[in-house]
Amino acid sequence: MADGRYNVIVIGGGAVGLGVALEITHRFPRQRLLVLEKEAAVARHQSGHNSGVIHSGVYYKPGSLKARLCVSGAAAMVEFCREHGVPHNVCGKVIVATEEEELPGLENLRQRGEANGLTGLRLIGPEELREIEPHARGLKALVVPSTGVTDYALVCQKYAELIGKSGAAVLTSAPATGIKRAGDEVVVETPRGVFSTAALINCAGLHSDRISRMAGDEPGVMIVPFRGEYYDLLPERASLVRALIYPVPNPRFPFLGVHFTRRVSGKVDAGPNAILALAREGYRHTDINLRDLAGSVAFPGFWRMARQHWRHGLGEWYRSLSKAAFVRALQRLLPEIGEKDLTPGGSGVRAQALKPDGALVDDFQFVPSGRILHVLNVPSPAATASLMIGKTIVETAASNFGLS
Ligand SMILES: Cc1cc2nc3c(=O)[nH]c(=O)nc-3n(C[C@H](O)[C@H](O)[C@H](O)COP(=O)(O)OP(=O)(O)OC[C@H]3O[C@@H](n4cnc5c(N)ncnc54)[C@H](O)[C@@H]3O)c2cc1C
Repeated sequence: MADGRYNVIVIGGGAVGLGVALEITHRFPRQRLLVLEKEAAVARHQSGHNSGVIHSGVYYKPGSLKARLCVSGAAAMVEFCREHGVPHNVCGKVIVATEEEELPGLENLRQRGEANGLTGLRLIGPEELREIEPHARGLKALVVPSTGVTDYALVCQKYAELIGKSGAAVLTSAPATGIKRAGDEVVVETPRGVFSTAALINCAGLHSDRISRMAGDEPGVMIVPFRGEYYDLLPERASLVRALIYPVPNPRFPFLGVHFTRRVSGKVDAGPNAILALAREGYRHTDINLRDLAGSVAFPGFWRMARQHWRHGLGEWYRSLSKAAFVRALQRLLPEIGEKDLTPGGSGVRAQALKPDGALVDDFQFVPSGRILHVLNVPSPAATASLMIGKTIVETAASNFGLS
C-alpha cells in the first residue's frame, strides 16, 4: 500500500477499533478510512484471547457507559452474529452465592440488573439451581437469561471483512511508530508507509496510553496488564457444566472471579484468574518485558495500587502457581471437580487503566484531544459492547472532527 491521505485512521485491529471502523463505513461511507494493526492479523490480543461471553450488563453501575453500552451492545452482538452467521448461543448463566455473606451481593446484582433494564432475572434456591446446572452447588443463585457466548476472533474477522468490502482498508503488520500533528492534519508513521489523516482514533488496547503519549498527549493513566489464565475441562468431564457458572464477584475488583464457560465450540474452560503480568503482552509467566516493568514501577499509581491490593494479588499469584489452589476456588461452585479433570488452557492479558492515585478506572474512557480521540479504558465487557462503543465513538468523532 502506498502512502496516502485519509479522512479517518483507526489504530488497532481489535474488537473496539474494528467496531469503530465498521460504524464509520455505515454512517460515512464516502470517507477514506484506514485501520492500522501492528500484528499480521486482526484480534491477536485481547479480542482473540477472552472468554467469549456476550455479557448481559448485570454487573455495571446504572447509568455508566459500561452498563448502557453492554446492555444495548449485547443485543446488537446477538443480532450481528445471527445476520452474519457467526456461531453464538444465548445460553443464559447462573451467578452462584456459596456463602451467607455473598447473599447481599447477589441481591445487589439483581437490583443493578433490573436498573439496567434486564428482564427475566430470577433469584433461585439450591433445588432449582440443580435443575439448571445439575453439578453446581450454592445457597442461592441469580439466573441471567440474556447472557450468551460467541467467538470474538470470528466476530473481528467478520468486522474486518465487511470493512474491506465497503472499500476501506485494514492494513496489518503496520504498527504506528510515530504520530505528528501538522496544522489540520495528523501524520502517522508505520514501517508500511506514512499516512496523513484529518482524524485519528486510538484503539490500541494494551498500548493505548503509549499511543496517546506518542501523539504528544498526557493520558493521565497507565495501562496495567492483568493476565487471565484458563484451565480446560477434559472432554469427558465437560458434561459437568451445561452453560455458564459464575461466583458472586468481589465488588472491590473489576474482575469477575474464576468461573466455568461452555464456549460455542462446546469446550468448557475454567478461569480466568487476574494476575499482574510482567509484560503488556505477557501471556506466560516467563514473559518479562523490562520496558513495560520499568514503566509500571515508575508510575506513582502502581505503588499505591500495590499497597491497597497486595494481599489479594498474592492470593491470585498463589492460585496461578498452584493448581490445587485454583481447583479449590472452582470447587466452591462445582464440588465434583478435581485436579485430574483439568489441563492447562490458554490465557489473555487485560488492558486496565490505572490512575495516579492507585485506583483502577472503572468505566470506559474516551478522551478527545484536537483531531485525535484516545480510547484509554475498554476492558470487559468491551468485546460484547464493541458495536455500541463504535456508535458512541463515531458520534463523538462526528461532532469533534466534523465528519460528514
Ligand atoms: C482474559 C480475558 C477475558 C475476557 N472476557 C471477555 C468476555 O467474555 N466478554 C467481553 O465482552 N469481554 C471480555 N474481555 C475483554 C475484551 O476482550 C476487551 O475489552 C476487548 O477485546 C478490547 O478490545 P480492543 O480492541 O480495545 O483491544 P485489543 O483486542 O487488544 O486490540 C488492540 C489492538 O491494537 C493493536 N495495536 C497496539 N499497538 C499498536 C500500534 N502501535 N499500531 C497498530 N496497532 C497497534 C494490537 O495489536 C491489538 O490488535 C476479556 C479480556 C480478557 C483479556
